Amino acid sequence: MLAMKNLFLLLLVITFQSCQSQNKEPKNMNSNSKKTEAQWKAELTPEQYEVLRNKGTERAFTGEYWDHFEKGKYVCAGCGNDLFTSDTKFDSHCGWPSFDKAIKGSVVYVQDLSYGMVRTEVLCAKCDGHLGHIFDDGPKETTGQRFCMNSVSMKFVPETK
Ligand SMILES: [Zn+2]
Repeated sequence: MLAMKNLFLLLLVITFQSCQSQNKEPKNMNSNSKKTEAQWKAELTPEQYEVLRNKGTERAFTGEYWDHFEKGKYVCAGCGNDLFTSDTKFDSHCGWPSFDKAIKGSVVYVQDLSYGMVRTEVLCAKCDGHLGHIFDDGPKETTGQRFCMNSVSMKFVPETK
């Protein structure tokens, strides 16, 4: 009986919280950015957690997608946000999946001064998960930009006909 009561209370709290976050941020319906580090740790694999939440970098040529060129889209491994389409992916030979363009509004940029370098970090706009960095040595015939991403930060969704 006590367990039932606790469950009911928990549901009440969850309902209350989701109403609250919807009022504050109408666009962020799933309120991923409100997750605690403990929640992320429980949901993500250790590799995903290391990159998405601790801003780690997977080793070059080890990820699932650096040499992956099927048709479809790449979504955030943390929250499912659409990030890139396969037609913007190009072979950069750098060992990480590279794109010349992100889906509009899907990512945000932050200056990153770690490791004695000046780089621009790319984060998921929905959950603030670390995806990788952006450089200006991408294909000149398109945007000139290179989104250098971690495979582990993303999930590939094949195109359905
Ligand atoms: Zn995300």
